[in-house]
Amino acid sequence: MTQAVQTLIILGASGDLTSRLLLPALGQVLTKDPARRVTLIGAGSQDWTKAHWRHVVRTSFAASKAEGPAVDALLASTEYVSMDVTVPADLKALLARAEGTPALYFALPPAVTKITCAALAEVDLPKETRLALEKPFGTDRRSAAALNRRIATLVPENQVHRIDHFLGNSTVQNLFGLRFANRIFEPLWGSQHISRVDIVYDETLGLVGRAGYYDHAGALVDMLQSHLLQVLAVTAMEAPATLDADDLRDAKEILLRATHVWDDDPVASSHRGRYTKGKIGRTILPSYVDEKGVDPELKTETLAQITFAIDNWRWAGVPFTLRSGKAIGVPRHEIILTFRDAQHVPAGLRGVAHPTRLRLRLGPDEMTLELNTNGPGDPKFLSRAKLEVEFGPGALLAYGEVLADLLDGDPSLSVRGDTAEECWRIVDPVVAAWRKDDVPIDDYVAGSEGPDTWPVIP
Ligand code: NDP
Repeated sequence: MTQAVQTLIILGASGDLTSRLLLPALGQVLTKDPARRVTLIGAGSQDWTKAHWRHVVRTSFAASKAEGPAVDALLASTEYVSMDVTVPADLKALLARAEGTPALYFALPPAVTKITCAALAEVDLPKETRLALEKPFGTDRRSAAALNRRIATLVPENQVHRIDHFLGNSTVQNLFGLRFANRIFEPLWGSQHISRVDIVYDETLGLVGRAGYYDHAGALVDMLQSHLLQVLAVTAMEAPATLDADDLRDAKEILLRATHVWDDDPVASSHRGRYTKGKIGRTILPSYVDEKGVDPELKTETLAQITFAIDNWRWAGVPFTLRSGKAIGVPRHEIILTFRDAQHVPAGLRGVAHPTRLRLRLGPDEMTLELNTNGPGDPKFLSRAKLEVEFGPGALLAYGEVLADLLDGDPSLSVRGDTAEECWRIVDPVVAAWRKDDVPIDDYVAGSEGPDTWPVIP
């Protein structure tokens, strides 16, 4: 019987992720389940008082309108410990404060996470301890494998939550129902009827002060290697028998094992870009290279577009293009499935039959099926119609979904160790080609749609 987490310890509690995403999500989880009791301990490098920490937690809870008995109980008991989380003796003392089953959430820079994992090898962890690790998990396949080996000495794999909050996104979760609880989509879901799949996550935001992290990651590592490959896996995997952690994660892993760069040609199949000075709405963004803390020599991309192939029975020959960028004028967060043309359009129907398209939007959570119809108006003339659904926000934020699973000890929405390595295996050839400068870095004006020479995503 899996024990619910009673003490959540956030390492790196003084950072951006904690206040902006984790705490508001935790507030939602507690509001939804007022009977839940969680003690929260924040550990960070800042010399904060207990009163200041409570103010931080309260402010973040207010952002998600958190309320109720579980929230009040947490606020009354939460503590902050100012410490270096890489020191084994201090980690031991921190864990001694935990009641019941603890979860350690690594809200730390990746390099610090690695050192802390090594330090934990010198600490006797309570048997049921859960570990929650943020992306990026390692910096390439080899380092991810080394981190996995280290973590395996600490706790069993099913107590490790490699967090990818995109898996908690309502639209991604809706794929299970849409694909597997209807007759009409799944029989068409493959190369016979689908000509291409695109997954796009373009945002208007620029760097917003995160050079310390982003300038060493870039769009490929920050978005494609982690979030978008996970979305691809859920979009394209075979139907699992259950949504249990083993079945779901096996299905994703098998799919990703068949995934590789299109034509195994990372130069022809990838594009990278970097924004230059421009305007988005009323905001003028400087060129990326002029942003504070950016080292132009690193040639970090702010826009990445890569096409992959999935070599299996269902998807052979269908390109899957993943794209994500910053400072793009019009935000786009969607999975787009483009269907093949109808075999034969009867003579007498005038106009153009465009491909049928299913668009699944990742926030706001919406779905649109774009179809050809021949009405209203001239009944002999084809026109476009859209079937649209607005799902509305989920009960929990995406981070809330993955946090609730962490607290309940259900790893089904977290990334398994082998899959974390697989995702690096998939992108490593592109990383190598970009490092060798085999692919040019194209400029695009902030506020534009990206370089206009790149293949267009429908
Ligand atoms: P930050 O740099 O804002 O926060 C990290 C925190 O850890 C800082 O408060 C830092 O303190 C503290 N810290 C660093 N070293 C130590 C140490 N030895 N002992 C104690 N505290 C330490 O990073 P983020 O919060 O943005 O990111 C954390 C993780 O979450 C990263 O892996 C990131 O990739 C991931 N992530 C972040 C997202 C975001 O939007 N922020 C989104 C998704 C994932 P100090 O500043 O004093 O060094």
